[in-house]
Amino acid sequence: MAENIKLCMNDLPADATFPNGMAAVDCEMMGLNVYRDRLCMTQVANGEGDVWLVKFDGSDWSAPNLKKLLTDKRILKIFHYGRKDVVTMKHYLDVMTAPLYDTKIASRFTRTYTEKHGLNALCVELLGVQLDKSVTSTNWGADELSEAQLQYAADDVVHLHALKVKLDAMLKQVDRVHLAQQCFDFLETRVEIDLAGWEDQDIFAHH
Ligand code: MN
Repeated sequence: MAENIKLCMNDLPADATFPNGMAAVDCEMMGLNVYRDRLCMTQVANGEGDVWLVKFDGSDWSAPNLKKLLTDKRILKIFHYGRKDVVTMKHYLDVMTAPLYDTKIASRFTRTYTEKHGLNALCVELLGVQLDKSVTSTNWGADELSEAQLQYAADDVVHLHALKVKLDAMLKQVDRVHLAQQCFDFLETRVEIDLAGWEDQDIFAHH
């Protein structure tokens, strides 16, 4: 698929369209601590070849067009491990993303024959695509991002629509569509629990 990658500042353009009703979404941050490390970029793909890289400079979190997409009940947001992204966007953009789908959760419910649920492992096995992960740890807050950084950022969202198709079929095969859906719906609560201070604890655990 030929990708049309557009770099935008602090918001999605108003003319971004999602003809199939699904948006693949991923975020890049300065690090792993949501309170310390700001949101640097939100990548969005429509599954039709368009990718928007919304770069945040930290001065303006209003992002009306992006927030409209994240909260649009008619558009499903597809993530790979969405928990961290949804936490970060709730903290910085003050919106709860919904409804959503998570390819990592779908993978855990279907690919029980492996422990490898990373995005690259899914792309290799289900799509025959190898991702270049060489710029994983990089400064996403830099004023100027390199071509390699932009391509890497886009790669994290361009395969999610295709992965969802494969994983939906696998969820049906193992009769876990309902279970997965319940987990996607619960993510909003999981994010609220994380932000309330129980990120590192399993609230359901005995001890
Ligand atoms: Mn990413």
